[in-house]
Amino acid sequence: MQRNIKMQVEAKKLKRKSMNYSAESITATLKSKGLRVTPQRFAVYSNLLSRSDHPTVEQILEELNQNFPISSLATIYSSLQVLREVGLVQEVLLEEGVSRYDANMEKHHHFRCSSCGAIEDIPSDRIEDLNLDKLRPDLKVTTYEIIVHGLCDRC
Ligand SMILES: [Zn+2]
Ligand SMILES: [Zn+2]
Repeated sequence: MQRNIKMQVEAKKLKRKSMNYSAESITATLKSKGLRVTPQRFAVYSNLLSRSDHPTVEQILEELNQNFPISSLATIYSSLQVLREVGLVQEVLLEEGVSRYDANMEKHHHFRCSSCGAIEDIPSDRIEDLNLDKLRPDLKVTTYEIIVHGLCDRC
């Protein structure tokens, strides 16, 4: 489901609530999912929690290697895989063939800038529920996501 809307993004409002995740709370969250807390899992998860730009694996690697130069693509992939399996991280596919990652697990939609590619979360209460009554009756809808295309405030 895609709509082309030129939308002035209210960047401030769309930014996620200020995120102050302490090392203790990140460790506790990982443990609460039954995960062993490894430096890699910790680094990948705290990196994703600290940003809302839906990075690719390469972008996570680039940032982690600035202060944690022991990461490789393979270790980041495997950390992401584990974090996805326990529901702490989701894969977001907004462009063909590009996997991005998101630690926001609340139901939300996405805005993607057609010019610079920036991606922002749109809280689901910002978009009215769609009327899905006219779908083929045999289809049982469980969830849906909207991708809004347009230009961001920097473009
Ligand atoms: Zn843009
Ligand atoms: Zn998102």
